[in-house]
Amino acid sequence: MGKATGFLEYRREDNITVSPLERIKNFDEFHNDISEEKRRKQAARCMECGVPFCQSGTMISGMASGCPLHNLVPETNDLVYKGNTQKAYERLSKTHNFPEFTSRVCPALCEAACTCGLNGEAVSTKDNERYIIDYAYANGLVKEKTPAVRTGKSVAIIGSGPSGLAAASELNMRGHKVTVYERSDRVGGLLRYGIPNMKLDKRTIDRRIKLMEEAGIEFKTNVNVGVDISGDEICAKYDRVILACGASNPRDINAEGRDAKNIYFAVDFLSEVSRKLMDENYDAGKIIEAKDYSFGSLKGKKVIVIGGGDTGNDCVGTSIRLGASSVIQLEMMPKPSENRLPSNPWPEWPRVLKTDYGQEEAIALWGHDPRIYQTTVTEFIKDKSGKLKGVKTVSLESKVDEKSGRRIMAPVEGSEKELKADMVLIAAGFLGSQNYVSDSFKVKLNDRTNVETKSGAYETSRTGVFATGDMRRGQSLVVWAIAEGRAVAKAVDEDIMGYTNL
Ligand SMILES: Cc1cc2nc3c(=O)[nH]c(=O)nc-3n(C[C@H](O)[C@H](O)[C@H](O)COP(=O)(O)OP(=O)(O)OC[C@H]3O[C@@H](n4cnc5c(N)ncnc54)[C@H](O)[C@@H]3O)c2cc1C
Ligand code: SF4
Repeated sequence: MGKATGFLEYRREDNITVSPLERIKNFDEFHNDISEEKRRKQAARCMECGVPFCQSGTMISGMASGCPLHNLVPETNDLVYKGNTQKAYERLSKTHNFPEFTSRVCPALCEAACTCGLNGEAVSTKDNERYIIDYAYANGLVKEKTPAVRTGKSVAIIGSGPSGLAAASELNMRGHKVTVYERSDRVGGLLRYGIPNMKLDKRTIDRRIKLMEEAGIEFKTNVNVGVDISGDEICAKYDRVILACGASNPRDINAEGRDAKNIYFAVDFLSEVSRKLMDENYDAGKIIEAKDYSFGSLKGKKVIVIGGGDTGNDCVGTSIRLGASSVIQLEMMPKPSENRLPSNPWPEWPRVLKTDYGQEEAIALWGHDPRIYQTTVTEFIKDKSGKLKGVKTVSLESKVDEKSGRRIMAPVEGSEKELKADMVLIAAGFLGSQNYVSDSFKVKLNDRTNVETKSGAYETSRTGVFATGDMRRGQSLVVWAIAEGRAVAKAVDEDIMGYTNL
């Protein structure tokens, strides 16, 4: 243990954050590291607990507590405290392929389960992780491991999101020839075309992909498997196949007037903005001024986001940067409590109110939280030309349904309202993977429309075809996608070789 009294001596200090009114002027990341001296103090706050829940990744009350990758958190914190950042990087690389992604976008399940957080402020493990990986890149330490010998076996991975990338990295390291198919024009999945640049600069993905290519992994972009090439053709060409296509079927809002112009799914909107940003070489001025988006210009427009979650928040932050004059975010569920309830004790994931970056920016701009809770849309109002001009909403209350006996959110009589809107973004969640891929590979789906595998296993109903990430577990988190990618690689390697040392 680095410093026995570190947690008593030093207060938590987060990375430096650019103020909301400043950062909305561009699409840049807005967290900057603190000095090395301060970072070492932050790492010294780690108590190196006998039972470190932070690295357990255990399911408690149906939610993950601690890091699903089982990052060796107390050990890396200790090494950072002692100034041995190179060793900390080597330790981190044992369990993690891409710390540069999670240290930017992870909700930090480790910190929610940190013992320091039981009575005070958790250790800043996510920021410490970012410090380690940024140091490693700056000092030329990051390399994809290349095998000394090739096995002569080949694996096709369909989908280049974090799960497919983690599986590719692991299997290539073992000596298998890996080819990654991606239907989009660029590699990265939702890291590239979902999560906005403010959270993850896309050049961070390019830097990693270059290393992966140099290590021998082949990427085939603009190939829509199931359309351009069939599942059977892929299976005939490769020894094993991994499906890593994500869970991109958006949940729709089936209210009257849904055919109005200017209603978009959140990911379509976010990915169009991300694509333009890359096409325009990250020139914020061009992005903000551009009028050739499929949704036109957002300058001076009223935006309503349906869905109060993280994707909805990304829509709020992006709409603000594009010049929207107002943004309202509608959420069906009640406002969460500000603090943990007795029914949600540590080290469970805290179900508490989180005010994310987009919401902070809306508050700074307009003086109020953009979220309206316990509310849904009952109708989209159109003008004569079919263009959206507003929505009708109704308040909801929690009730026990007489027929099913289950708790539901039911409309409150007389609570109907109208809100003006020029554009609606639907961020109401996802409903599993797209059927044309599972149909083409003839693999079974489960009742949640995810690709079915045996519990705790990764092989699908078709021998030699495996599944991973959101396509197997449903829409989740980057850290889970990477953990699944590592696990499916292990399963595939064992299937090919009869044993695995991954
Ligand atoms: C807007 C948004 C914001 C998010 N923000 C966060 C966040 O801040 N932190 C976090 O931890 N998680 C976040 N998530 C969730 C996270 O991005 C996903 O859980 C994660 O990316 C899933 O990884 P994956 O590899 O399983 O799938 P994906 O990232 O969805 O990648 C699947 C890839 O497969 C490709 N593909 C699909 N079908 C085919 C085909 N037929 N042929 C070829 N290629 C195909 C797709 O084009 C895509 O590139 C966010 C999700 C969204 C939608
Ligand atoms: S990947 Fe996420 S949960 Fe794991 S240590 Fe890093 S920030 Fe914490």
